[in-house]
Amino acid sequence: MKISEIFFSIQGEGMEIGLPTVFVRLFACDLRCTWCDSMYAVEGRDFKDMTIDEVKGEIEQFKCKRVCITGGEPLIQRKELEVLAKDLVSECYTIVLETSGHKDPPPIFWTENCLISMDCKCPGSGMHEKMDFSLFEKLRPEDQLKFVIQDELDYEYAKEILTKYQIRASIIFQPVYGTNLKWLTERVLEDRLEKVRVLPQLHKIIWGEIRGV
Ligand code: SF4
Repeated sequence: MKISEIFFSIQGEGMEIGLPTVFVRLFACDLRCTWCDSMYAVEGRDFKDMTIDEVKGEIEQFKCKRVCITGGEPLIQRKELEVLAKDLVSECYTIVLETSGHKDPPPIFWTENCLISMDCKCPGSGMHEKMDFSLFEKLRPEDQLKFVIQDELDYEYAKEILTKYQIRASIIFQPVYGTNLKWLTERVLEDRLEKVRVLPQLHKIIWGEIRGV
């Protein structure tokens, strides 16, 4: 597998925010979001080739049964990822899969020990036309759909998506790092978006914009 990095930190985003987690960042992505904060896992050659057993070995050393698989776009390495996820689930790990909303995760991620954290890219990302909206309606109540919001245009877009599709998953509005969190929070309150959670990226509040946390 092409691995960008494996590290132990707290979950900085979404419903599991604050929980100790092992992160496995897979290399490569077929999208190019304007505000991408992990371009080192998208382009270039900053990755290690590892076998599935080597990846599992690194995960095990952290002695933490919660794993977040992120990227890049993890589903580009679909076959290997499926094997890794099956092995981890059989060894009683719980998994969060972070994915970009344009690829259908394989069946293992729709089982009870896995949570799918899917993005809906807004216009500010430049990637909103790449989304597969049918996936949003497939998400289960235990999954989450995350909108990364940069400005008013993104905010209105996210609201429109919520009206247009029947979404059972938890809804997260996350400001692009550096965007005014207070502005986004007040817009959600004004509009009484009762199903929306506004969440910052906790790891960046703690450590700033650095790798490996
Ligand atoms: S999908 Fe994720 S990794 Fe890929 S370019 Fe967008 S933010 Fe970066």
